[in-house]
Amino acid sequence: MSEIQKPTQRILESLPSDLRELVSPSVPLGDLTTLGIGGPAALVCHIRNAEHAQRFQAFCSKENLPSAILGGGSNILAADAGFPGLILKIATDRFTVGGETLTAGAGLDFDLLIRRSLENGLTGLEFASGIPGTLGGAIVGNAGCYGRQIGEFLIEALVLRENGSLERLGPEDFGFDYRRTLMQGSGDVVLEATLRLQRGDLDRAQADRFEKMNDRLAKHPTEMPSAGSWFKNLDPTEPQGRRIAAGALLEEVGAKQMFVGGAAVFPKHANIIINRDGASCIDVIELADRMRKAVLAKFGVSLEQEVRELPGCRLTEPD
Ligand SMILES: Cc1cc2nc3c(=O)[nH]c(=O)nc-3n(C[C@H](O)[C@H](O)[C@H](O)COP(=O)(O)OP(=O)(O)OC[C@H]3O[C@@H](n4cnc5c(N)ncnc54)[C@H](O)[C@@H]3O)c2cc1C
Repeated sequence: MSEIQKPTQRILESLPSDLRELVSPSVPLGDLTTLGIGGPAALVCHIRNAEHAQRFQAFCSKENLPSAILGGGSNILAADAGFPGLILKIATDRFTVGGETLTAGAGLDFDLLIRRSLENGLTGLEFASGIPGTLGGAIVGNAGCYGRQIGEFLIEALVLRENGSLERLGPEDFGFDYRRTLMQGSGDVVLEATLRLQRGDLDRAQADRFEKMNDRLAKHPTEMPSAGSWFKNLDPTEPQGRRIAAGALLEEVGAKQMFVGGAAVFPKHANIIINRDGASCIDVIELADRMRKAVLAKFGVSLEQEVRELPGCRLTEPD
């Protein structure tokens, strides 16, 4: 029996029997993240409703076990050693439309949500077509592109707070900022969200969606595992100006030629790290550090990481 299996067996035995049906033991995190990196999680819990989330959360605090929340795993780096506790994999996926609003489970695939909203005559989200991951991940990270972000659309969300209470929160509680919200790292679980869209020109929206998808196919890795942009873009230098692309600075320092072990910078986009050949978490961290240090040395600018790390990825904080 491996080291990770021993505690897994003990955790399984202490779970109430009906919750045991909702867990998968010793799941490689590489299978749950788009980068394809990460050792086994002791247990992955499939959260299909608020009650599941509440009971798993209560179990973790009673048994003093670590837990982490996972959506589509498209903005995550997981540790080579895996995760010794419970991964709460958000799988709430209902979808309903009422007037110009829609309500969906946080575990619903974000691009599927965009497709379904168009099928129901609702427009507005097509700019974000092709962003991988779930609705919950998009809200918690305030995902976006082309100068727009998901936070603009939120009316309210059903959230399981870290203290165990279920609350309906509005946009002001999320504090949406560029790729940032107050929910990040808080331990709060987004279970469901209501968004405001419009009954707009569907032909135009479909054409916009098609254009954005093609743009992604041209610029993003489709065949290689990645987690999207590694670093956030920089604040504009003028009040209404555009953000400065981190990729432009990285290109200037020759990042496209950089690699460490099986991790490499994507040749078409200097701000994307790909798992080219069995990369480890440590390869990726070393490569990202090299990229960050090169930009700091040349431009005096400290890049902020956008990709979230599960516990155990690094032994020391970056200097
Ligand atoms: C090829 C590619 C292209 C990308 N393009 C873009 C882009 O254009 N714009 C952009 O913003 N991002 C982009 N991304 C990054 C990523 O797709 C987004 O950040 C996405 O919204 C993450 O959602 P997820 O469900 O995969 O979240 P995960 O990666 O699973 O989680 C990300 C973080 O959110 C937390 N989280 C997830 N779900 C919940 C929940 N329900 N409740 C509480 N916390 C939660 C996790 O704990 C973690 O800290 C891209 C990624 C790839 C691989």
